[in-house]
Amino acid sequence: MTKIDITQAPKFEDRHNSPQASEIDSMLKVIGADSLDTLISETVPANIRMQGEMNLPAAKSEFQFLNDLKQTASKNKLFKSYIGMGYYGTVVPGVIQRNILENPGWYTAYTPYQAEIAQGRLEALINFQTLVIDLTGMPIANASLLDESTAAAEAMTMFAGLRKKDKKKANKFFVDQNTFPQTLDVLKTRAIPVGIELEIGDINKVDLTDPNLYGVLYQYPGGDGNVKDFTAFTASAKEQNVFVVAAADLMSLTLLTPPGEMGADAVVGTTQRFGVPMGFGGPHAAYFATLEAYKRQIPGRIIGVSVDSHGNKAYRMALQTREQHIRREKATSNICTAQVLLGVMAGMYGVYHGPKGLTAIAQKIHASAKLLANALTEMGIEQLNDVFFDTIQVKTDAADELRRIAESKEVNFRYFDNGNVGISVDETTNLNDLEVILDIFSEATGKSKSGNLAALATEVAIDFPETLKRTSDFLTHPVFNQYHSEHEMLRYIKRLENKDLSLVHSMISLGSCTMKLNATAEMVPVTWPEFGNIHPFAPADQTQGYQQMFKELVTWLSEITGFADVSLQPNSGAQGEYAGLMVIRAYHQSRGDHHRDVAIIPTSAHGTNPASAVMAGMKVVLVKCDEKGNIDLNDLKDKAESHSENLAALMVTYPSTHGVFEEGIKDICDLIHQHGGQVYMDGANMNAQVGLTSPGLIGADVCHLNLHKTFCIPHGGGGPGMGPIGVGAHLAPFLPGSPVVKAGGEQAITAISGAAWGSASILTISYAYIAMMGAEGLTNATKIAILNANYIKAKLEQEFPILYTGTNGRCAHEMIVDCREFKSVGIEVEDIAKRLMDYGFHAPTVSFPVAGTVMIEPTESESQAELDRFCDAMLSIRAEIAEIANGEAEVGNNVLTNAPHTAGLALSENWDKPYGREKAVYPAPYVRQSKFWPTVGRIDSAYGDRNLMCSCIPVSDYAEEEAMA
Ligand SMILES: *Cc1c(COP(=O)(O)O)cnc(C)c1O
Repeated sequence: MTKIDITQAPKFEDRHNSPQASEIDSMLKVIGADSLDTLISETVPANIRMQGEMNLPAAKSEFQFLNDLKQTASKNKLFKSYIGMGYYGTVVPGVIQRNILENPGWYTAYTPYQAEIAQGRLEALINFQTLVIDLTGMPIANASLLDESTAAAEAMTMFAGLRKKDKKKANKFFVDQNTFPQTLDVLKTRAIPVGIELEIGDINKVDLTDPNLYGVLYQYPGGDGNVKDFTAFTASAKEQNVFVVAAADLMSLTLLTPPGEMGADAVVGTTQRFGVPMGFGGPHAAYFATLEAYKRQIPGRIIGVSVDSHGNKAYRMALQTREQHIRREKATSNICTAQVLLGVMAGMYGVYHGPKGLTAIAQKIHASAKLLANALTEMGIEQLNDVFFDTIQVKTDAADELRRIAESKEVNFRYFDNGNVGISVDETTNLNDLEVILDIFSEATGKSKSGNLAALATEVAIDFPETLKRTSDFLTHPVFNQYHSEHEMLRYIKRLENKDLSLVHSMISLGSCTMKLNATAEMVPVTWPEFGNIHPFAPADQTQGYQQMFKELVTWLSEITGFADVSLQPNSGAQGEYAGLMVIRAYHQSRGDHHRDVAIIPTSAHGTNPASAVMAGMKVVLVKCDEKGNIDLNDLKDKAESHSENLAALMVTYPSTHGVFEEGIKDICDLIHQHGGQVYMDGANMNAQVGLTSPGLIGADVCHLNLHKTFCIPHGGGGPGMGPIGVGAHLAPFLPGSPVVKAGGEQAITAISGAAWGSASILTISYAYIAMMGAEGLTNATKIAILNANYIKAKLEQEFPILYTGTNGRCAHEMIVDCREFKSVGIEVEDIAKRLMDYGFHAPTVSFPVAGTVMIEPTESESQAELDRFCDAMLSIRAEIAEIANGEAEVGNNVLTNAPHTAGLALSENWDKPYGREKAVYPAPYVRQSKFWPTVGRIDSAYGDRNLMCSCIPVSDYAEEEAMA
């Protein structure tokens, strides 16, 4: 008789952690370890091991989790929000929602460093850049930033670095008071530590002749809804060598003269209302557009056009070498992960609607606002705007009463401090909504509604003053004019998706970036309206579902990191670094230690570490690594001693970026504390810590978590991400706040992001992961991540030198494979990366943290079979290199240097390679079962950097450009 225990649900852990028990045994044999626990003991130093299990709720099945979360989600109230302030209702086209936002073919892709297998999203990003360029009237744009507020701050710091000779000492940046409050707050945060004097005031009164002034920023349309002409102002500013930045609403620019045409030096903003749900704050793609002259200073990534080895047009990330190093100590920006997936969506919204469709949407929005303004005026209610796009301000002496009535009708307005009420309409606003708004005003004021709205609605006149009326064309490129039917759009999206290799094809063993499973059940809630359609500044009583989720997630992440509290505000790992350092800064200052401003950083650190330190006003002191890759303890002692007086922090990645659990880590933390410093742990490698040790246990004071690495938020092709920070109790009071809603510690520093909980809607993913894995599942994930890495190491180490291992010869969750010796036969690490494409694999991390190497991180989600295929590919490539060495293959004309091989090349009539076509494109048996074809040949990076082009240009024009070059 079979007995069944019906309380046992299927374990999600068994889906996430790929190798099954029998596989684990066979892998351990290859590694030469008796058991998984032995392997872990040999890898993780005993003095930092966590005793017992983490205190987390019991793991839930996928089914149970989704049911329970639905209950929580239902506590979020879906009011109509007319709050505006940079966040608006939008209609997400179904074809974009299902085929991009909900499609792992798009969302599981990595940042497009390997351009030959990323042409789809690179094209989509070129569309995004073109959309921004055309609408803002600027010559160049980047491929997204984190949010509008930080984009404004990036402009402020970029121009500080670009001050003209006569302004070298000028350090004042002026911001119009009519700018959104969250942007003002982020600007404050970013200005102070780097010595920029931020002045907030009335832009009509700014003294442009002030020799100390180097830049100004204004909101367009203004925060109060008014639209003003800044042409004369901009010209006067430029005469004084003062840079002008506009934070502009992209939708309004289809109708209004864009800031670019008024002479602005940079235009920044958000593309949220281009078909990306509000999500209680994000994620959305911010944009940054500027002049050609500043292309080498522009923060973030720019997609450019280049040529491939066959002379065909191909896209790539421009100035990529610069990007990879993020300018370290010389940085004015630390942006790394941005918002690619959301940028792709916004670009596609532009493609789907085209110039006419976008104009029609903008006209409808404007007409709705106008109709509302007219109707209110007719009722005898004072409306304060003359020229406006979508936002009006109403004067009322009954704001409290109005608010009560509005909320009883499930409506949110913006309530200004002076008692005025702001109303921003959007693409979703219909006639009925306007009637409800009028009803609210009628009830609150006792004034009766007059006229027939429906009759008036058909003929609202749109006429902006001549100087504010947009006259220039935009989105004239064919891509914005041919995919307007759903079938055409669907196939366009699919065509691009099919050019890109993502986790739906094979393992992406990106060292340091932890490309693990993004489970479907984790992704499902992201597009629930209860999470998507919530304005970030909605009153707290409407967002109880979110608040409950945050509270639990904060508790869980605190438990996992061993810290007292967590801030969910930073939108990326790098932003977490900055937030953490600013919290450390505030802590030192609270103790009167204003002089503590030295950050010690190992030379092996990720480029964002020194960049964040500089942005937080710290001086970077580098500490060497020894020949084993560990921090050189003697050098550290010297540096800590000589900077003892002024030591603010040590930034340390653990396990190290070399893939090793350094044994001296506790001593390192003690040493820093002895000298009065704080320990900032870069948590990018948390996937090797969860459940086995923790930053708190090790002795760190702060740590960021890249939720898009360890905690399952997909990479989205280069974002979104989230970088919450965990802190010790002494730092918790300083966690960042928000100027609009209640958030952060009691002595909160000013805002790091525009939204109080960053990209709130994707926190559901990490929340789901922890809830479904439970303490044991999470700990097993870490163990298996280490097992998988050591398995790869064991299989490759006979043929490739492995740099750096721990005392017992084990690596942590990743390892560095040295490829420098192959230079003797003309093979660079790049050639290996490109040849992997022919085998259907994405290259591991190339040349970080050591040039000429690859860093492999398999994660726990890959099965033994997949690891074997990857190792076979690497070993087969090693054999191909041996063929060059022994003369069977030609130096400089072989399967590696000619990789990747496209279908076009393999099928061409005049095949002229010294090896066969089969060897080129079917280098291993398993490749035949599912061949992934790179769509372009090797891309010429140098060409693209010399001829930087970052908007869509027709192929015919391209040929001409090329001929001229
Ligand atoms: C990924 C990474 C970062 C940067 O994180 P983002 O989320 O991309 O900003 C910092 N340090 C290390 C070691 C990383 O791997």
